[in-house]
Amino acid sequence: MGDIIDGKAFAARLRGEVADGVAAFRAAAGRAPGLAVVLVGEDPASAVYVRSKHKACVAAGMESFEHRLPADTPEAELLALIEQLNADPAVDGILVQLPLPKHIDEMKVIETIDPDKDVDGFTIGSAGRLATGQEGFVACTPLGCLMLLKDRLGDLSGKSAVIIGRSNIVGKPMALLLLRESCTVTIAHSRTQDLPAVVRGADIVVAAVGRPEMVRGDWLKPGATVIDVGINRVPAGDDKTKLVGDVDFAEAMDVASAVTPVPGGVGPMTIACLLHNTLEAAKRREKIG
Ligand code: NAD
Repeated sequence: MGDIIDGKAFAARLRGEVADGVAAFRAAAGRAPGLAVVLVGEDPASAVYVRSKHKACVAAGMESFEHRLPADTPEAELLALIEQLNADPAVDGILVQLPLPKHIDEMKVIETIDPDKDVDGFTIGSAGRLATGQEGFVACTPLGCLMLLKDRLGDLSGKSAVIIGRSNIVGKPMALLLLRESCTVTIAHSRTQDLPAVVRGADIVVAAVGRPEMVRGDWLKPGATVIDVGINRVPAGDDKTKLVGDVDFAEAMDVASAVTPVPGGVGPMTIACLLHNTLEAAKRREKIG
């Protein structure tokens, strides 16, 4: 029986460390680190995420600037707001909640964010910095996965890692981070042939697909470490639903040495890493630490 990797407890510790760092930053800089969150439209899931980001910021002693714009906001108006946030000395990090309404070019909006304030790590500048090994911001979800892996395994050098999924926000940055740790990295995706055989070779498996319980226990190498990024809502009988990951948790626990649960694994790390990145951005801007 494998161990459960408790992302919730790790994230709580990280948030505590960030709060201590925020207090030290305040004492040195005479101000709090500030995160601006921009929400366009009324998407209920996005509204929930924005609310939890705001609460987490305040709990860590940071300044949270919320900008809620109506769904029909013209693109030019959103771009002007981002330029204004880029220039605002009280704002260290800028996050635009995705998805944006269809009439707005998402890439154009993201590209307007100053890479030094790109705490979500979504700009081409941030992706380029990660790809070329320069200092920059790494997307919060893969950064959280890496922290869990290093906490569990220590040195990752030489380990073989399979990442299932090649999205710009999870799969690709995850692959680059593990490459930076000197893993031997394979990226699998929807066209990969004989995925179970590919996964069976891995010491580390990161599943970021969005397919409920796709990865089965007999796909795993005994003793592997499994990070499940997927968040899938499935029926649970009596008109109820529940959340499951991309990995069959019970089967994986029988074979792997450690597995992240869903919920309570990778999910809580994402906001904790956002706070971590925002504090980093503030320290870099004020040349502290
Ligand atoms: P995405 O849809 O952008 O990418 C999914 C990837 O999975 C694609 O690259 C695709 O090639 C691959 N894929 C699809 N079907 C496949 C198959 N049958 N076999 C192998 N690969 C296949 O998704 P995403 O944004 O990377 O998110 C992935 C999952 O992670 C989703 O469930 C999402 O909800 C979750 N997620 C969680 C967090 C978090 O905070 N925990 C953050 C981001 C995403």
